[in-house]
Amino acid sequence: MGDVVSARTVVGTLPAQRVVEGDGFVVRRPFPAPGVEVVDPFLLLDQMGPVTHGPGEAIGTPVHPHRGFETVTYLLDGELQHRDSLGNAGVLGPGDTQWMTAGRGVLHEEGPTPRFLAEGGRLHGVQLWVNLPAAEKMVAPAYQDLTADAVAVAEPSEGVTVRVVAGEAFGLLGPGSTRTPITYSHLSLAPGTTLSGGFDPDHTVLVYPLVGTVEVAGRSLAESELGILGPGDTVELSVPADADSTSEILVLSGRPIREPVARYGPFVMNTRAELIQAIEDVQSGTFGT
Ligand code: MN
Repeated sequence: MGDVVSARTVVGTLPAQRVVEGDGFVVRRPFPAPGVEVVDPFLLLDQMGPVTHGPGEAIGTPVHPHRGFETVTYLLDGELQHRDSLGNAGVLGPGDTQWMTAGRGVLHEEGPTPRFLAEGGRLHGVQLWVNLPAAEKMVAPAYQDLTADAVAVAEPSEGVTVRVVAGEAFGLLGPGSTRTPITYSHLSLAPGTTLSGGFDPDHTVLVYPLVGTVEVAGRSLAESELGILGPGDTVELSVPADADSTSEILVLSGRPIREPVARYGPFVMNTRAELIQAIEDVQSGTFGT
């Protein structure tokens, strides 16, 4: 028996729901959703925009805590800034990623830069929450600033651009360091193009069209409809020749952590007692100011 290569098919879909966060920040969220608390090892996916803000209209989220997981923010358009209780501050522009390991706890705020707030413009980005295994939930907080020029980029064929932020995917190795095996890719596929890549059979694989549509092994996903892929070795993507425009597609994979998940707002732990401890620690000032 030789190795049989099999294409992963779409075994579940989650249409993004419109959710209002923070001070009125609107996101499209495929999960968590009723009955879908986790897509192990991922906890949440939020698409910010695309939206065009007029001057003074852009909105952020006020100071809030996190514990027990990582937040990964990737921007396609616009400008966001971040400040946290570790003293880190950063600005994200198009193609930049902030990979924040909250670990035992940070307080942070996320929002438009003063310039973007004043001038307005198009904002489009994604925030992904990646779970941490029990052994790493209370690690020291850490922060990776993965700028657009550090991301691995290739154009393997006409009309196809691959950007890999973390892990090894589509023949590229991204710059991001991950706590468990994760791959994070952004693809641009022009009408009439195809792309395939091998993924670890042990990984959960998700495909999410941020703009436009994509077919996965012949099954069409609409814009902002998350596809959860079944078992197999490869992921085969195509955009029909009659599509209106280039599709922007997020492809995520990760090895499931397979532990109990207890979540409450910005805390994701293994047990209810650990959630209560997190709330007490925020109230007692352990997370800093
Ligand atoms: Mn946050």
